[in-house]
Amino acid sequence: MQPCFICSKQRGDMKSAGGVIYEDEHVSVSHMGISGESQSAYLGYLIIETKRHTRGLGDLTDEEASAVFVATNRMSRILRDSLQAEHVYSYVRGDAVPHFHMHLIPRYAGTPEPFWHPVQLAEWPDAPRGNTSQIVQVCSQLRAAMTN
Ligand SMILES: [Zn+2]
Repeated sequence: MQPCFICSKQRGDMKSAGGVIYEDEHVSVSHMGISGESQSAYLGYLIIETKRHTRGLGDLTDEEASAVFVATNRMSRILRDSLQAEHVYSYVRGDAVPHFHMHLIPRYAGTPEPFWHPVQLAEWPDAPRGNTSQIVQVCSQLRAAMTN
């Protein structure tokens, strides 16, 4: 059996770029990308994970489902207010990593309409992308906005 990528991240075997932005007893929110990875990530692309290893939609307890949606709503508000996202997409796929996680992707002003789609956004050549240090900066900004 393959070790679970999200469980090993939560155990601290690897660190998401920018660290945890928000967490409660059921969920943890971090930026896409692993610390030190050389490839850049779409800035503001967040992942909301359950702390418990569970597969996908339909497998969450009511408490986990509530926590996921509260985090989705709060983080979306912050992406709008703090990073000036004009719209926020979210989706659950889970084909690659069978541990519940929700993608949260901001769409920024000026994104051409053919890229208005949660998966196609990052394919826009001018999409705002950043390396680990830029991701760290975005995460600090989001964390600060959470406490305000
Ligand atoms: Zn897991």
